[in-house]
Amino acid sequence: MELIDGNKISAEIREKIKEEVSQLEKKPGLAVVLVGENPASKVYVNMKEVKCREVGIQSFKYELDKDIPEEELLKLIEKLNNDETVNGILVQMPVPKQISDTKVINTIIPEKDVDGFHPVNMGNLFTGNNSLVSCTPKGIITLIESTGTDISGKHAVVIGRSNIVGKPVSTLLLQKNATVTICHSRTQNMAEICKTADILVAAVGRPKLVTADMVKEGAVVIDVGVNRVDDDSEKGYHLEGDVDFENVKGKCSHITPVPGGVGPMTIASLLENTLTAYKMQNNLK
Ligand code: NAP
Repeated sequence: MELIDGNKISAEIREKIKEEVSQLEKKPGLAVVLVGENPASKVYVNMKEVKCREVGIQSFKYELDKDIPEEELLKLIEKLNNDETVNGILVQMPVPKQISDTKVINTIIPEKDVDGFHPVNMGNLFTGNNSLVSCTPKGIITLIESTGTDISGKHAVVIGRSNIVGKPVSTLLLQKNATVTICHSRTQNMAEICKTADILVAAVGRPKLVTADMVKEGAVVIDVGVNRVDDDSEKGYHLEGDVDFENVKGKCSHITPVPGGVGPMTIASLLENTLTAYKMQNNLK
């Protein structure tokens, strides 16, 4: 078994971005909006800010009160839509209950939608006209390809059908000519289906859902799950993936660890998308 090192692969991508950004006339800019005090969201937003700075992308951080009315957030997005120094806009999800995430996503103009969640960008992805592709799925494909696996003709099984991971990663795998099966909470005989997967992507949010008996010998296994599991440690919890790593690792050819697999790739893809958005807005190739 070989470990797929997301930290190493994402560092290489960030190095390339840094090099490209250093050649640009103006610095690309990314606006990151955080509403409320969700501790995990705060960690993600801070990490995005640090990584932007490292590659020379300007980061504009907006921290808004958890009770902010929806209208005010939408007004801020509209202001950012019209701000030439901002090439990408990201509103950290989830947003508090008084705010519709659909309205937020639809208000960001597609050209600045670096998360790739806008229906125009989703539609482009489904018609094979990729421009800004959502970050985690994009990173997953890079990880699979890093193993030297030719995706074409392989059976890829994706567990999960969310708009942010399951559906877009299934579409990208299909574009790469995999035969794709999508499993979800109503799927019957999931273990048998997974057992036929050459490439298995788990994006569920259930610790250790994928056990060794569900994995084909020699499969490539991508674990997207990030689950907080309580324990007696000082922090009071540790992170676990959707895959029973210890027991599956002996069976597969390649596997991503949690943490250090898909997570760092998501940020690298976000930086790539910000650079792509900058280039599109400045008519550069
Ligand atoms: P989500 O929106 O909650 O979707 C979960 C999917 O899993 C749903 O399609 C659900 O089916 C399916 N599911 C739930 N229980 C199942 C079961 N027992 N058997 C089969 N399928 C089941 O989650 P998400 O946003 O896609 O995220 C999934 C995981 O990835 C989470 O742990 C999240 O934290 C992690 N994540 C990580 C990153 C990263 O950068 N590392 C990025 C995004 C997400 P139904 O549709 O039928 O309900």
